[in-house]
Amino acid sequence: MEIIKDIQKLKERLRIHVGTIGFVPTMGALHRGHVSLIDRSVEENDLSIVSIYVNPTQFLPGEDLQKYPRREEADLKICKVADVDIVFMPQSEEIYGKDEVKIIAPRYGGFVLEGFRRPGHFDGVLQIVSKLFHIVHPTRAYFGKKDAQQLYLIQKMVRDLMMDVDVVPCELMRDSDGLALSSRNVYLSDDARQKALAIPRSLKKAAKSISSGQKSVEKLTVIMKETLCDVELEYIAFVDRDFHPIQEVEIKNSLILVAAKVGNVRLIDNIWI
Ligand code: AMP
Repeated sequence: MEIIKDIQKLKERLRIHVGTIGFVPTMGALHRGHVSLIDRSVEENDLSIVSIYVNPTQFLPGEDLQKYPRREEADLKICKVADVDIVFMPQSEEIYGKDEVKIIAPRYGGFVLEGFRRPGHFDGVLQIVSKLFHIVHPTRAYFGKKDAQQLYLIQKMVRDLMMDVDVVPCELMRDSDGLALSSRNVYLSDDARQKALAIPRSLKKAAKSISSGQKSVEKLTVIMKETLCDVELEYIAFVDRDFHPIQEVEIKNSLILVAAKVGNVRLIDNIWI
């Protein structure tokens, strides 16, 4: 496994490569969710690249940029075991310049839900992902359904800007207790984690009601809220696959999203109906 920190070196290395390139962009502190993306990339491509970069432009002032978990050694071990070919660890000084041309998230999809709570977050995400795509030129890029709105916006950016990459959505991975895997779960105390379990439980309850025929968003919201009393709920949203709000759940075209705080840890989760 090669570890490359220099953009030019990576470009030169890729110039001699013949075959498909799978790409998994991450912010490190890798867990089984990331590994599921990596496994898919390794399986489907001739060469797999994982990037590890805590992107400052997607953090808002006051968010956890400084204390975001960084575990370089453990991450490299995980990548090695998973058969990654290249780990790309760019440096901010090389990635960002002054007074840059910017990519702005679309006015609707980029500024509802997560975009409303974290204005500017998706501009930063799209900026870094487009830069990484231009460096790596992947055949396929793997993104988790855990970050459903991010996935939607990246698919939209690729379409709108006519980028030549196949975006592959990957299933949301959960821990054995049901909590969606996230690098930020390390912030949760045991007690907070128990409270946080209400989030996947509420989604499961909604899914169960939907499979017994309940389609009304109003009724499903009431059912979910009963479970979510121990967390500080930011939103429950029922949307279609273009992130427009819906009144009735439609099978294979709906998403239920939850954002909530437990103590000062902000968690997001979702289920694709
Ligand atoms: P991050 O390191 O949080 O930026 O995540 C990097 C990639 O891993 C993104 O495409 C995420 O959606 C994906 N990811 C994070 N957590 C999970 C999870 N629990 N299941 C599946 N994919 C995930």
